[in-house]
Amino acid sequence: MTNWIKELQSIVGDENVLISPDELLVYECDALTIHKRAPRAVIFPTTTEHVSRSVKVLGEQGIPFVARGAGTGLSGGALAEAGGVIIELSRMNRILEIDWENQRAIVQPGVINIALTQAVATRGYHFAPDPSSQPTCTIGGNVAENASGPHCLKYGVTTDHILGLEVVLPDGRIINLDRHGAVALGYDLVGLFVGSEGMFGIATRITVRLTRLPRAVKTLMADFPTVEAASQTVSDTIAAGVIPAAMEMMDQATVRAVEESVFASGLPIDAAAVLIIELDGLPVSVDYESSRVVHFCRANGARHVIVARSEAERERLWAGRKNAFGALGRINSDLMVQDAVIPRSRLPEVLPEIYRIAERYRLRMACVIHAGDGNLHPTLCFDGRDADELRRVDAACKEIMELCVRVGGTLTGEHGIGLDKVKYMSLIFSEADIEAMARVRAVFDPRGLCNPGKVLPVHRCKAF
Ligand SMILES: Cc1cc2nc3c(=O)[nH]c(=O)nc-3n(C[C@H](O)[C@H](O)[C@H](O)COP(=O)(O)OP(=O)(O)OC[C@H]3O[C@@H](n4cnc5c(N)ncnc54)[C@H](O)[C@@H]3O)c2cc1C
Repeated sequence: MTNWIKELQSIVGDENVLISPDELLVYECDALTIHKRAPRAVIFPTTTEHVSRSVKVLGEQGIPFVARGAGTGLSGGALAEAGGVIIELSRMNRILEIDWENQRAIVQPGVINIALTQAVATRGYHFAPDPSSQPTCTIGGNVAENASGPHCLKYGVTTDHILGLEVVLPDGRIINLDRHGAVALGYDLVGLFVGSEGMFGIATRITVRLTRLPRAVKTLMADFPTVEAASQTVSDTIAAGVIPAAMEMMDQATVRAVEESVFASGLPIDAAAVLIIELDGLPVSVDYESSRVVHFCRANGARHVIVARSEAERERLWAGRKNAFGALGRINSDLMVQDAVIPRSRLPEVLPEIYRIAERYRLRMACVIHAGDGNLHPTLCFDGRDADELRRVDAACKEIMELCVRVGGTLTGEHGIGLDKVKYMSLIFSEADIEAMARVRAVFDPRGLCNPGKVLPVHRCKAF
C-alpha cells in the first residue's frame, strides 16, 4: 500500500477509505452513465479538518481529487479524472443550526436536499431549490451545480438561496465566504463559487436561506393534442405576466413510462403533451392566476384541465413528474438526459425539430421540460453496449446542442457542463471568454488538481 493512502487512512480512519477495485466500481460514474472513470481511492471525511488535511496530502503527491455528494449529477461532474481520488461528503450530513429569527440554516454539504425542508416544514418553511432528485442529492452538490428545479421558475435557483460558505481551497486552506444580506461585501465570492462545478474547492459548511411556505397552492394538470399547443400555452401564460411557481411539461413517451411505473399519477397516455402547472401565494392571487392559466390552456386546445382537489392528489401529480427519469430508466438500459435552454417563445418550433433529429438517428426519445424556463431535457434511450447506437447518440446530442444555440439558447440550464459538455463550450464562448474563466479558476486552484478535465477545454487549463 502506498504511503499517501496510509496517510489518508490515518486522517479519516481505515474504515473511511476505499481502495479495492470492486468497491471503487460504484464510483466510476454519476447518473450520466455514458462516462466512466474509476477513481484510485474514495475517502469519507466527517469534518472540515479531515477534508483540509486530506487535500494537503494529495497536493504534496500531485494527485488530483474531486468532491462528490450523492453522485446524482447528470454531466459527469463527480468523476475522478486521471486516476484521482474522490472525496465523498455524504457522511458530513448534519444540520448544524437553524436560526428561525433570521430564516437561515447552517448545514454540512452532505445534507440531503429534502431533509432540510422536512426539518423546517413544521414551522412553515422550506429550502426552495427543489431538483427532482431532491430525495437523494446533497446541498453541497446543489451549490456546486447551482441546481434548479420545478419551483425555481418563481423562487430562483440555488445561488439565490446561499448566504455563506466555508470552503477548503485546493491547497488545504480554509476560507469563509459571506453574503450576509442581499448584497455581498466586496466581490461576491459566494456567487462565484456557486456553480463552479467542484473546481474551486470543497464546500464544507453552507449557510442557506429558508423560505416561507406559501399560504395557498393550486396544482393543475392540462393535456394537449400537440406538443406545440402545450408550448404555446406556456409562452402565452408568462407573456401575460402570470409567473406560476412551476410549469412543467412531459411528452407522450414520458407520460407512458410514468403511467406504466409505480409512480403512475393518472395522466392521459394518449395526450401528445401534459403540463403540470402550480400557482402559489395569497389565496386571492392564486384564484385569479389559475383562472388565467385555465383560459390559456383552453384557448390552445387543452382536452382537459384538472385541478388537484386535495394534497394527496397534488402529491400524486408531482410524484409522476419528479420520478419521470426513474420511470424512463426502468424500461431502458441507458439514458442520455440532455440539458439545454432556449428562449421560451421558441419552444413550439424547436421541440418538433428535436424529435426530427432523434428520428433521423433512429433513437427513441422522451422529453421532460421545465417549460416555464425554456429548459429542455431531451432524453435519448439507448443500449450502451451497442457501439453504433452510442455513436448515433453522440451525433444527435451535438445536433440538438447546435440547434438550441442557433435559436439563442445555451448549453445547460441546471446540470452543468461537467465532462459531458466540454466539447460544446466553443459553440458559446470565444477563446478569450474561456481564457478568462481559466484565469479565475487558477486563482482558486493554480495547480489544477481540483476536479480537472471538467468545464474548460483541456488546452485552456494551464496554470497562469
Ligand atoms: C433523477 C434525477 C433528476 C434530477 N433533477 C434535477 C433537477 O430538477 N434540477 C437540477 O438542477 N438537477 C437535477 N438533477 C441533477 C443532480 O441531481 C444535481 O446536479 C445535484 O445538484 C447533484 O447533487 P449531488 O449531491 O448528487 O452531486 P454530485 O453528483 O455528487 O456532484 C456534482 C458536482 O458537484 C461537485 N460537488 C459535490 N459536492 C461538493 C462540495 N461539497 N463542494 C464542492 N463541490 C462539490 C462534484 O465535484 C461534481 O462536480 C437530477 C438528477 C437525477 C438523477
